[in-house]
Amino acid sequence: MEKILIVGAGPVGLSAALSLAKNKVPVTIIEAESQLTTVPKASTLHPPTLEIFDELGIFDEVKEKSLIVESFQQWDRGNNKIVAELKLEVLKDETKYPYRFQCEQHHLTEIIQKELKENENIDIFFDSPLEKLKQVGEKVEVTINRNGKEVKETYDFVIGADGASSVVRKSQNIPFSGLTYPQHHLLICVEDHDFTEDYPGLSPVSYFSDSEEWVALIQNLSMWKFLIPLDPKIEDQLDDEYIQDKIRKFSGRAKTFNIVHWVVYRAHQRVADKFLVNRVAIIGDAAHVNNPLGGMGMNSGVHDAYFLSNYLTRVYHNKESLDILKGFERERQTSAKEEVQKHTIKNEEAASNEEEIEKRKKEMQEMMNDREKMKRYLLETSMIKGFNNRRITDTDKEVVYDD
Ligand SMILES: Cc1cc2nc3c(=O)[nH]c(=O)nc-3n(C[C@H](O)[C@H](O)[C@H](O)COP(=O)(O)OP(=O)(O)OC[C@H]3O[C@@H](n4cnc5c(N)ncnc54)[C@H](O)[C@@H]3O)c2cc1C
Repeated sequence: MEKILIVGAGPVGLSAALSLAKNKVPVTIIEAESQLTTVPKASTLHPPTLEIFDELGIFDEVKEKSLIVESFQQWDRGNNKIVAELKLEVLKDETKYPYRFQCEQHHLTEIIQKELKENENIDIFFDSPLEKLKQVGEKVEVTINRNGKEVKETYDFVIGADGASSVVRKSQNIPFSGLTYPQHHLLICVEDHDFTEDYPGLSPVSYFSDSEEWVALIQNLSMWKFLIPLDPKIEDQLDDEYIQDKIRKFSGRAKTFNIVHWVVYRAHQRVADKFLVNRVAIIGDAAHVNNPLGGMGMNSGVHDAYFLSNYLTRVYHNKESLDILKGFERERQTSAKEEVQKHTIKNEEAASNEEEIEKRKKEMQEMMNDREKMKRYLLETSMIKGFNNRRITDTDKEVVYDD
């Protein structure tokens, strides 16, 4: 195998490129847009993702752009009281990183892009959407619209990291099974206000459960991000005043907030029926999507990228059979279904469904008095348990480099 193409320069495609580059595997990346996106979206980085970034040599740069979060809170929005605070230090014997980073997705992609620029094995082409992909014998033929011109190229392997509407996934007719939530999610980003003045003791990551309107609140180095459910019927009534009112209602202050960004997202729970078809693999949102409560989407995509790259490195350098990639598919599909989907679906229910809210409250209060129970919960929700389970089957086989 000589030529590998990655479609999509989001956090997942770039992580795959960096991982391959570190393993001395050359790769070409194509990105539809003219530059990396700077739109606020993911920001939570869980401990296994920090382990990967350490191994890839970007941990210090990511840390510089991150708020380090050592605990998160569950609040009851009805009476504005803290239900529980879970401290990640209980994980200190399980990981080198018993905390979360809050780092905006675009800082992460900029850091990886800078690192890739210094690597002669990597080519990135912007303004280059993939239009078509066809597998012919042992080759993958792609049609790319490069700066308005149709170009045909041939690769030995293609990685689709082209997001939820993946052209790569569709080209292989892979069903994307699951559901789309009826309610939408409104993301609001606020600068220049300290919400701990409105909620003394507030943690940078706080979930306010409420059957009428839950709030997930995330702080990073420059802003606070609010995620709130939204009835799609009122979407066309949204304007800046409506958004201001949402934040006024939350903070209890009648001021004008510095709202730097707001956007409505649809939320889905879907996993592709296949992550691998011969010489084409899909990773990240192209392969699985979930609601953002718990911050697992991008993290699990980065884990896909890391595992797939390690398998491909063995095919590239050791000349092992492509059959070993079935291990990637089995491990990552299991992780998406049994870990990410399980927790994110539960998180959405525990934010809005009265019965589930009460159940979660009770569970969290019990954890406050039972360190082992808190640890077990945090091992799962910090993605450590799933990552380590998968790693056991991802054999740490030695790679034989040509040079
Ligand atoms: C509000 C919100 C908050 C979130 N918070 C978190 C969080 O805290 N933690 C977390 O882990 N996850 C979070 N997520 C989820 C996370 O944002 C996604 O899982 C992540 O962006 C997926 O990365 P990706 O690289 O797979 O896809 P994308 O980020 O969608 O990137 C895909 C890239 O492919 C490019 N592309 C698309 N089509 C083509 C084509 N045909 N040819 C070439 N290029 C193409 C796109 O332009 C894009 O650059 C959040 C999501 C939302 C909406």
